Amino acid sequence: MTSKSPLKIAIASGKGGTGKTLLSTNLAAYLSQFEPTLLVDLDVEEPNDALFINAPLLSTANQHKMIPVWNEQECILCGKCARVCKFHAVVQLGRTISVFNQLCHSCYACSELCPTNALPIQTHKMGETRFFEKGNLSFIESRLVVGEEQAVPLINKTHSIAQQKYNHIKTHLLDCPPGTSCPVVAATKDTHYVILVTEPTPFGLNDLALAVETMRQLGKDFGVVINREGHGNSSVKEYCQREQIPVIASIPFQREIAELYSTGQLVYSTIPAVRQALEQIALVIKEKGAKR
Ligand code: SF4
Ligand code: SF4
Repeated sequence: MTSKSPLKIAIASGKGGTGKTLLSTNLAAYLSQFEPTLLVDLDVEEPNDALFINAPLLSTANQHKMIPVWNEQECILCGKCARVCKFHAVVQLGRTISVFNQLCHSCYACSELCPTNALPIQTHKMGETRFFEKGNLSFIESRLVVGEEQAVPLINKTHSIAQQKYNHIKTHLLDCPPGTSCPVVAATKDTHYVILVTEPTPFGLNDLALAVETMRQLGKDFGVVINREGHGNSSVKEYCQREQIPVIASIPFQREIAELYSTGQLVYSTIPAVRQALEQIALVIKEKGAKR
């Protein structure tokens, strides 16, 4: 990665409902006041940043993955395809070969090993990406089609779109799916810094500890933002201190924030404490950019 490539900041959390969307959308809008900024909603199963960004839609693009399709006429029922598929996406049942699209990882192995070319690879729609623009803020979101279970291929595709189409924008913010499984690993891939959003409750601490473990295993540079500070207890702060994890900002527990958020509004321009938290995060982002 060259020093001219965009600075990629992931915003993640060990569980949903901690304030990841609140932080991602407000931080993106705040930063875009000063320079062009890209926000990417990678929570492809349930993207909702668009509700808050409220930007005009520029275009939509279908996203496809490649899957094998069985050609009964060519098949000699040798069973090789079912044996080679590590993901159990091809199954032989009597004289029928079934391909389960949702399980297929598009590795091409079955198709290439088939002795009679009876499993040609074809395109299959997995989701779509929507492109928005509002002043200095570019925003893209990808959404899986209903019934499609694999988030990772669409997350990877969205990463490459951001890289190719928005390489001229210096700061990319990536709103990641919640949790600690494969989609989060895919979403935080190639990012320079991860902001873990949590809340000061026992549940928040439990999920933060899991997220921290994942980030450490991935060798990520990361810091924590505590949302709804004052609402729970001090266990998250004590944990971060013990583990030497920087708490880069806190957003207080305020009724006004919840009220504005529940009506789909950005809060940074009306709530001084949020603006102050964003200023602190912006300084960390600047510092990370300068160090590359
Ligand atoms: S590898 Fe090809 S020929 Fe053999 S069972 Fe599968 S589809 Fe049929
Ligand atoms: S392309 Fe790969 S993952 Fe998909 S069905 Fe064939 S062997 Fe399995």
